[in-house]
Amino acid sequence: MYEVQFHPADIRKQVRYFFLSRRTARWIAAAGAVVGVVLLAGLVLAPLGVQSLFLSSELHILRHRNALLREVLAERERELEAVQKRVESARARQQQMSLILGALQDSGGLGGFPDGQTTSIKVTVPEAVVALRRALRLDSESKALLALADELARFVREHEELTRIVPSICPLPIGSFVLTSPFGDRISPFTNTRDFHAGIDLAAREGTEVLAPGDGRVVFAGRFPRRRNIRWWRYGNVVVLAHGDRYLTVFAHLKDILVRRGRRVRRGEVIGTVGNTGWSTSPHLHYEVRVRERPGAEPEPVDPRIYILNYQWKAPEVLLAASRRAPGPAFDPLPSLVRVR
Ligand SMILES: [Zn+2]
Repeated sequence: MYEVQFHPADIRKQVRYFFLSRRTARWIAAAGAVVGVVLLAGLVLAPLGVQSLFLSSELHILRHRNALLREVLAERERELEAVQKRVESARARQQQMSLILGALQDSGGLGGFPDGQTTSIKVTVPEAVVALRRALRLDSESKALLALADELARFVREHEELTRIVPSICPLPIGSFVLTSPFGDRISPFTNTRDFHAGIDLAAREGTEVLAPGDGRVVFAGRFPRRRNIRWWRYGNVVVLAHGDRYLTVFAHLKDILVRRGRRVRRGEVIGTVGNTGWSTSPHLHYEVRVRERPGAEPEPVDPRIYILNYQWKAPEVLLAASRRAPGPAFDPLPSLVRVR
């Protein structure tokens, strides 16, 4: 038996006391020990808990930041794609210019970007690296484009005469036509057999003005006599322009002819109007560009779309690739009535 006494500080107050059996005392001691152990464990583990709390919030922040970075990266990726598209169309445009000016394409390097440059990037490469690579490639491409632009500008300055005569604008006002038949092999709407279309057909309202695509001279204006050349007779009212020694343009199925043979014309001058004469099912302009590759050679038809710089055709790369395919298919040579000289 234990006696526990409480002595108040004030001696006038009574001393308080109570008795504990040995068993109760042991229980109290055991309970005290358990509380002690629990307190100790708490003291040891508390910092770990705080740390893990801290870590989880850190992780949350990191996740958030990661998501943000991903978004930024995706945005940059989209911007890069847009820039890439612009660079590609600028490249096609400049190749088109080099091609029609005819002088730069053989000088090598500048005009020729290797085809299929889309490098096959493995999926394991991190997106950021892919984006960086693309950015670097765009950078070098744009530098090459700038160099080509300088070269072209210099060429234009040095060959002002040539650049004025090269057919390079659309023979119909922009917005007034629809391309209804492309250049090349096609099924003829009249004979239903495969034949070669030496130009393009631009459907337009009857009477739409037809413009000279470059400075030149009228070498034929009128209708070919049926006896002399039936295929050219089918062209209806025709104007043929010679632009220097290298280029010829043909305008067929015209309604009115507003120029006479021998007349000099300037780029943009009205030479006639769209009509439905000859073998034609509805008003349209049949437009041809013929290029003499060597002096004295027969001028060969090329896709006139290449020689239209003031209008953006769909897929200009395809157009340019097709233009490099040689040799040309069979075509009707210029009739003797067209006096180029
Ligand atoms: Zn046609």
